[in-house]
Amino acid sequence: MRYSKLFPKTIKEAPRDEVAINAKYLLRGGFIDKLMAGSYTLLPLGKRVEQKITQIIREEMNKTGAQEILMPLLHPKSIWNETGRWDKADEVMYKLKKDDKEFALSFTHEEIFLDLIRKHTSTYRDFPVKAYHFSTKFRSELRAKSGILRGREFLMKDLYSIHTSQEDLDKYYDEVRDAYLKTFERVGLSAIVAEAAGGVFTDSTTHEFQVLCETGEDEIIYCSGGDFAQNVEIAKVSEGKPCDLGHGPLKRAKVIEVGNIFRFGTSYSEKMDVSFTERSGKKQFTYLGSYGIGVTRLIGTLVELFHDDKGIIWPKEVAPFDVHLVHIEDKETEPWVRDIYKRLADSGIDVLWDDRENVSAGEKFADADLIGIPVRLIVSKKTGEGRVEWKNRDSEKTETLEVSEALKKLKS
Ligand code: ATP
Ligand code: MG
Repeated sequence: MRYSKLFPKTIKEAPRDEVAINAKYLLRGGFIDKLMAGSYTLLPLGKRVEQKITQIIREEMNKTGAQEILMPLLHPKSIWNETGRWDKADEVMYKLKKDDKEFALSFTHEEIFLDLIRKHTSTYRDFPVKAYHFSTKFRSELRAKSGILRGREFLMKDLYSIHTSQEDLDKYYDEVRDAYLKTFERVGLSAIVAEAAGGVFTDSTTHEFQVLCETGEDEIIYCSGGDFAQNVEIAKVSEGKPCDLGHGPLKRAKVIEVGNIFRFGTSYSEKMDVSFTERSGKKQFTYLGSYGIGVTRLIGTLVELFHDDKGIIWPKEVAPFDVHLVHIEDKETEPWVRDIYKRLADSGIDVLWDDRENVSAGEKFADADLIGIPVRLIVSKKTGEGRVEWKNRDSEKTETLEVSEALKKLKS
């Protein structure tokens, strides 16, 4: 991709009302645009990061046997009345009225999934069903001031599973827990599984996936040995107490919640009459699990954790491009860089080539640092034809390489 063609370009200043680092850098780098508090457009660069993340999640969800679907965002009031959440979740829901009919904008999809299940299943043979989608969630958030960490509308991957027994639900729940840990690891994050309360979702304990980060809104008490963590909102232990398994004192830390998994059992199925006939012919209620990952929140979390005073430092797996190619002394080096751009692209490397004319080398370097692609390659009279200067975004070290050597390194 030629940077001259990319929409839009970097900007010098983020809007003054943005305080969060993720919003500042994502806005300045041209990854997002702000419509209003808690409501952002994903621009081409941001969309690329989102697609990388989404693909990793999709692969890990498919490995658990889940299938991808897409459910609607506009829901009739009647379905929310079935579980009582039209009233119970009033605070968080956006509601609308049109021609005497009332609707809600989706803040979650348990009811919609259960409606699908009761229409398309009948006996124990039809279970389990595991389905997920990537879609927008609308939530009336009072604290929409953390950039894309907390949107009034945001992207979530939500998975729902339905089973004929608690045992089968428990087994799949553990499988998803592992798939989530794998997903976060692939994205570049190390997540801690913490016990937490279920809010408007359930009265039983849930599990949150928490990433240590000083700017996080949540807090956990956890053991560094990895066997224990609880959200402070429900924690019955306190910081400094010894861990039961002898791993030393428990710690308290700020975190960002990137995922949450829930076991509802039969509570919702009973209210919506989602049942099946057993082998014996007896009618039984189904067991529901629900599992969410905040996709746009993940993008924000990565920026909160991986940046310096110049800009973002994307982990390789989710970077919008593999390489940021820059050339200096435009006229003479243009044919050289064009050849290198083609060679890299032909080898399947995603390159952002800053081909702008009349922009200084200094400005190009500053933009490369802000955008945060992991590898910067420079072509100049100093490097010579067929050679590049390699610099990783997270290091000051540079080395000059033949293009073939750079290609080998990029492929490794
Ligand atoms: P929080 O406690 O942060 O408000 P939640 O517990 O209400 O989140 P869940 O219903 O568990 O959120 O949603 C699943 C995931 O969606 C969360 O783990 C989080 O990563 C993401 N998420 C939730 N609310 C938002 C939001 N307002 N903006 C962006 N992502 C969100
Ligand atoms: Mg949650």
